Amino acid sequence: STPAAITSGLAAATRQGALIKGGAALEQLALVNTIALDKTGTLTEGKPEVTDTVLLADVPIEQVLAMAAAVEAGSHHPLAKAIIAAAAAHPPLTADRRKALAGVGVEGWVNDKHVLVAAPKHLPKNALTPSSVAQISALESVGKTVVVVLEEQRVLGLLAMQDRLREDAVSALAELKNLGIETVMLTGDNPLAARSIAERLGIDFKAGLLPADKVQAVAELGQHRVTAMVGDGINDAPAMKAARIGIAMGSGTDVALETADAALTHNRLSGLAHMIRLSRATRANIR
Ligand code: ADP
Ligand code: MG
Repeated sequence: STPAAITSGLAAATRQGALIKGGAALEQLALVNTIALDKTGTLTEGKPEVTDTVLLADVPIEQVLAMAAAVEAGSHHPLAKAIIAAAAAHPPLTADRRKALAGVGVEGWVNDKHVLVAAPKHLPKNALTPSSVAQISALESVGKTVVVVLEEQRVLGLLAMQDRLREDAVSALAELKNLGIETVMLTGDNPLAARSIAERLGIDFKAGLLPADKVQAVAELGQHRVTAMVGDGINDAPAMKAARIGIAMGSGTDVALETADAALTHNRLSGLAHMIRLSRATRANIR
């Protein structure tokens, strides 16, 4: 292979929002025929906002928000940032022994009481009343992510959050389709919200995936397809590693940016099609 072709391919990619880490990654990219993408922070902006609060106990909503924000403190998850922002207007509480439960939620102790903020489906059976379950489904059906706030296993309330699609998500996926590449969205979010978002994007999806499930989904694709995985490193870094090519969002975590084979600078999803085109052209040049 000619180093000059590779060098100029890498440089051209960089100008178009795609950072490719070396000739080996460039060559592999030319073979990719399937791209799996994380939802939150990848296809969406990863800046959700709390849109609805539902009180389910005799506690002021400000207190429910403050408790949730206390256990979310220190979490880099986009949902954590949304909850902390929503609680910012109220006097803060602090939590001890905070712990992230990957793909599930967070927990901690506020005033020596156990506080859990988690996805509804990970709660014990019968934790929610049928009417709460119906409220959650209604919120999820319009693309919102709902978390439940519990104190000592007592449900205090629901927080619904909504994120925006990246403005170039639809066009970037269309470009990949034109290149003959299959795409699938992998998400830990609930199936109803995932469907609502996937329909807007026109993409297949798998929902309710824990980080290990994302790894398995990528491994299964990899048995028959040359698969790249695009993520922001929050709950999806292992899946990025499991793929033939891992692609990090430019705003991704340090771990994601370090382990990835390529990155989308300025979070430009359109960089994906550029990467593929350049890698194919470079491959043609050096053969
Ligand atoms: P995605 O695949 O969309 O990037 P994640 O795997 O990061 O989603 O998270 C999956 C689900 O786990 C979220 O939709 C949420 O219900 C729950 N979750 C994860 N982290 C948190 C957190 N810090 N606070 C509340 N809920 C969380
Ligand atoms: Mg994510």
